[in-house]
Amino acid sequence: MKHEEHTARVASSDPSVTFEVPAAAQKLLSVLESAHFESWLVGGFVRDSLRNTTPHDCDIATQAPWQQTETLCQQAGFPTYQTGIKHGTLSVNVEGSIIEVTTFRKEGFYSDHRHPDSVEFVDSITTDLARRDFTINAMAYHPTRGLYDPFDGRTDLAHGTIRCVGDAPTRFDEDALRIVRALRFAAQLGFALEPTTEAALYDKQDLLGVVAVERITTELEKMICGDFIKDVLMRYLDVIGLILPELLPMKGFDQRTPYHIYDVLEHTAHVVSYSRPQPTIRWAALFHDAGKPATFSVDEKGIGHMYGHPEVSETLFLQAAKRLRLPRQLTNNAALLIRYHDTFPAPTKKSVRKLYRRLNYSDDLFYAMCNLMRADSRSQAPWTQTRLATIDSIEQCFTRMREEEEFFSVKDLAINGNDVIGCGIPAGPKVGAILDQLMHEVEEEALKNTRDALLARTRELMQTY
Ligand code: ATP
Ligand code: MG
Repeated sequence: MKHEEHTARVASSDPSVTFEVPAAAQKLLSVLESAHFESWLVGGFVRDSLRNTTPHDCDIATQAPWQQTETLCQQAGFPTYQTGIKHGTLSVNVEGSIIEVTTFRKEGFYSDHRHPDSVEFVDSITTDLARRDFTINAMAYHPTRGLYDPFDGRTDLAHGTIRCVGDAPTRFDEDALRIVRALRFAAQLGFALEPTTEAALYDKQDLLGVVAVERITTELEKMICGDFIKDVLMRYLDVIGLILPELLPMKGFDQRTPYHIYDVLEHTAHVVSYSRPQPTIRWAALFHDAGKPATFSVDEKGIGHMYGHPEVSETLFLQAAKRLRLPRQLTNNAALLIRYHDTFPAPTKKSVRKLYRRLNYSDDLFYAMCNLMRADSRSQAPWTQTRLATIDSIEQCFTRMREEEEFFSVKDLAINGNDVIGCGIPAGPKVGAILDQLMHEVEEEALKNTRDALLARTRELMQTY
């Protein structure tokens, strides 16, 4: 039985398709296949190799039950880790490369739209591929047998199409995360949803509410970091708005200002796609103007103003970040970028120092801010583009100042904590607060860094601290 199935499958794979397979994956395939367990490279590895982009990881599907994979790998000297044995997944360390090996499986009924009630191990790669989400993700490859593609993912890949494997409404019903995954692949690859898949996505969008937030966040972040996120935001904001309702008022919101040629959504979609594809910057870009609709006013000349919008945008972002359980550091950094995105610094040492301080003296955040400001400017009216040169100068000024060590810390002040205590402040947190304040004033060139000036200012500050 096993032999017959194997022959049938080999006959229907296409050995003329060949691409490079890392040596570690080759070795692992050989170990499994020498023990007569049919094994294939699957998923993102096959998709990316066929697109001529370098795959970032390597997944193998095998007929071997995970216990057998474990024994065979250990005999071959490859350490294994039981990272997901409930679903038949082992991680294997092949000479330093980690490869995930999963037993062929199909999934039972999804009564909660997010977890299969059961996982059943099966004997056939075809059944395993049938449980996968999209045809472009449901292909298998073997270095000698070539491409096995029972759902014609290759054609969809060539046409730039995202199509569910099997009946689209059923597949979204089973696991509603696939709705976000569809948009994630659209944003990463620049592909279009096949009409039946798109109709099912709209039909089933309300099921997003039952998906575990951590699973959504991972996909959402990959989505916003995609090269083609602009089109996805423009076309699917209503669906994305089920997860990020804070963004919905941006759609069609006319800013009525000469600075802008787009509504808030289209402007934002441009800013996100122009900004560096790194999560902190992309989250900040996505939310940077979300507070505009709530702060909108029109003056007597009919010009729109959105005073205080960065603070409101920041609050909206913090609300979303909490719900999505974004990591604290990312949240804080993106919040700072949002808060200060609209401060129009000048390329002077004074304002560079001020911005650096506002960004907690983080070089990464300073460069991230320049990147965001540039993306923001590029998405405004063409006549505002002179700002780009200013942002370049700010960045150059910052780099030069870093090289020339023109920033200092509290330690570089001409007085220290003992001097502050000597002015009559009790030892404790107030001393640090006063030193910080002195440093900020020196940085902003409001105060000279001399012993006399600092002591005089300390005495003044004592009144308020
Ligand atoms: P990436 O390059 O981002 O890792 P990937 O295609 O490898 O993309 P993964 O999330 O790593 O995506 O999933 C690996 C494979 O598992 C997918 O290619 C797909 O075949 C399958 N898969 C993952 N999640 C689902 C899901 N929710 N429903 C069905 N199949 C899925
Ligand atoms: Mg992957």
